[in-house]
Amino acid sequence: MLAHCLEQESSDSSWIDIPDGVLELYEQAGRPRPLVRARRLEEKLKTPARLYYKAEFYSPTGSHKVNTALAQAYYALEEGYERLSTETGAGQWGTALAYAASLAGLDLIIYWVRAVYKWKNERRGFMKAYNATVRASPSKETQVGRELLQSDPDHPGSLGIAVSEGLEEAGKDDRTIYCLGSVLNHVLLHQTIIGLETKKQFEMADDYPDVMISCLGGGSNFGGFVIPFVADALKGRKIHFIATQSEAAPNLQGEYKYDFADHAELTPMIKMYTLGHKREMEPIRADGLRYHGAAPIISLLRHHGYIDTIAYPADEKYVFERAHTFITTEGFLPAPESAYSVTGAIDEAVRCKETGEEKAIAFNISGHGLLDIEAYREKLAI
Ligand SMILES: *Cc1c(COP(=O)(O)O)cnc(C)c1O
Repeated sequence: MLAHCLEQESSDSSWIDIPDGVLELYEQAGRPRPLVRARRLEEKLKTPARLYYKAEFYSPTGSHKVNTALAQAYYALEEGYERLSTETGAGQWGTALAYAASLAGLDLIIYWVRAVYKWKNERRGFMKAYNATVRASPSKETQVGRELLQSDPDHPGSLGIAVSEGLEEAGKDDRTIYCLGSVLNHVLLHQTIIGLETKKQFEMADDYPDVMISCLGGGSNFGGFVIPFVADALKGRKIHFIATQSEAAPNLQGEYKYDFADHAELTPMIKMYTLGHKREMEPIRADGLRYHGAAPIISLLRHHGYIDTIAYPADEKYVFERAHTFITTEGFLPAPESAYSVTGAIDEAVRCKETGEEKAIAFNISGHGLLDIEAYREKLAI
């Protein structure tokens, strides 16, 4: 792990400064990003609730992942590395790191979960446009990969397996450092830029959220969005935090215990809500939500009763239909993962209609789905 990130991982400081160089990169990448009142969606739903979405999809590569990618590539350059290695599931993290590595002048090798690598041709091309090397995982290039391919030559892979391959790659070469796109404390720290901006934007709007909703795979966009508000909740302010997930990987409903973050048990054990690191999970279109464990910070908050969760059916029809309502009223096309945030927000707004409650509902749209039209075509039968 990068020295800077390792230090941040176990820091007990309330605040850690963002380096000027990273702030400059954030501006270059279009920060701050808007917080938008979804008036047309409110009208369509005839809800008394006020709906606000944070538009993380205004991102060079399409998702919030650039927030930590830029910071990690910046630190890697500062620490003298020449090459990065990583894993990717849905492909958003791989693209974000490919972009950040390219701007920093670093090489990058990406292990990409095979089940997704196969169908996301455009995103593969996107990563290659940044000169990244992309391999389907499990691959023949690592020992973990070779063993799995022996038992199944067309193994679909998983995020846990791809993490193992990325780690093995970095272990072979002193100039290469492994970067992780979610789950860990330093990643959530980098993502708090989302919530910090949102807090200021609510001040400007003279409002404050009663409910905050986002999708949760490993926990980085959810954590980045809500953690600056958790500070207020810990002081007694009532905010209902809801993490939306898929029944294919409802990790927040798993067991709270120590577990590995990867398939091959190369990582330290992490205390988290987990489904078990060897768990097989059926592929879904929102593949970024298909991970066995939730970030330790979010897990602890859940353990203490601060975080609620809901898991939607793995056929994803309901979720894509809800996203469709958003597309036809607000006009932006959410990433399949972000469709789960939208679904949570619409469900809550519909509940408010039934009870007459005038709640302020904030949800984070972690990415756009412009490279996932195939998923919309399938799920909406269009
Ligand atoms: C990766 C990803 C997610 C899920 O990961 P988290 O770490 O839980 O945020 C959600 N949405 C998008 C667009 C992603 O790329």
